Amino acid sequence: MTYQPRNERYESMVYNRCGRSGLKLPAISLGLWHNFGGGDLFENGRALIRKAFDLGITHFDLANNYGPPPGSAEENFGAILKKDFSGFRDEMVISTKAGYGMWPGPYGDWGSRKYLVTSLDQSLKRMQLDYVDIFYHHRPDPETPLEETMMALDHVVRQGKALYVGLSNYGVKDTQKAIGILKELGTPLLIHQPAYSMLNRWVEDGLTDLLKEEGVGSIAFVPLAQGLLTNRYINGIPSDSRALKPNSFLNEGDVSEEVLQKVRKLHEIAQERGQSLAQMALAWVLREQKITSALIGASKVSQIEENVAALNNLGFSEEELKRIEEVLDK
Ligand code: NDP
Repeated sequence: MTYQPRNERYESMVYNRCGRSGLKLPAISLGLWHNFGGGDLFENGRALIRKAFDLGITHFDLANNYGPPPGSAEENFGAILKKDFSGFRDEMVISTKAGYGMWPGPYGDWGSRKYLVTSLDQSLKRMQLDYVDIFYHHRPDPETPLEETMMALDHVVRQGKALYVGLSNYGVKDTQKAIGILKELGTPLLIHQPAYSMLNRWVEDGLTDLLKEEGVGSIAFVPLAQGLLTNRYINGIPSDSRALKPNSFLNEGDVSEEVLQKVRKLHEIAQERGQSLAQMALAWVLREQKITSALIGASKVSQIEENVAALNNLGFSEEELKRIEEVLDK
């Protein structure tokens, strides 16, 4: 059936300015790391993108290597865009990345100009796009001079193949240095994409403060700790969950009793707030306005609906925050 986006799609989503740029991002964005690969059901992925767009999610995050096999998420996304969204490209912010191993030999990994520029060309072909909105360096490369990597990012913007650039998984010092280099080149850093959730708080040690000071936006990946910070695992490991899927980075062993004890207590607090744990975990990531967007994944349409409804209750009382800290500290 021909897809027609919901007319009301912009009415309830919150859009946050990305640092001091002109670009706004939805408070909740959708990533295609899982559930969009060659082995996943195409129609399910298509339904997820439709639902997300219908709920005001305008930002879709990819990387060259998402799949498996690597590249297949971009191919599937390109096919979905072609089928359903051909008239809507200008309403979307699409990102991709390069930085992890993508093709054999010395030019298909890390951070050289050779790798980044050619990888973006490949990504554009797979997605059947003329440009991406954001192109990221996916992880720092300890061997390539930072100047070369930043010049490659600046170059793809000047080529018109990306509108903005981002960094992912960079520590505080490298980020600071990169911000300086990019400023001089005339292509300011738009956004940083770090891991951030109740179970992984490294960004609180200086990164978010630096980004705020420098006017750089941030998008938190894995805000639900791959599903641990939801009700998914409270009563055991469901057969269709990520923890039981091959090629996933969440293993049965990660669903430990120690984590579950915290999860159950957090679930209780969420219930008292009248929301699900997933919703509270997202509201928590967004709580201090230091994070522009929470970058979720989803395997089911209902998860996207539930997660977007987190926006109905983003505020926390001091007491709630204190109780959450107590649970996380243990
Ligand atoms: P999340 O922490 O949001 O985990 C998503 C998973 O949690 C879903 O697949 C689903 O698991 C479960 N889930 C989501 N919502 C609910 C819900 N309401 N109730 C129950 N379970 C739920 O993020 P991801 O790990 O998927 O990562 C999100 C995105 O972040 C990626 O797609 C990618 O774009 C980006 N990313 C970036 C990285 C980087 O290095 N820059 C690294 C990793 C991710 P299930 O499948 O079991 O249903």
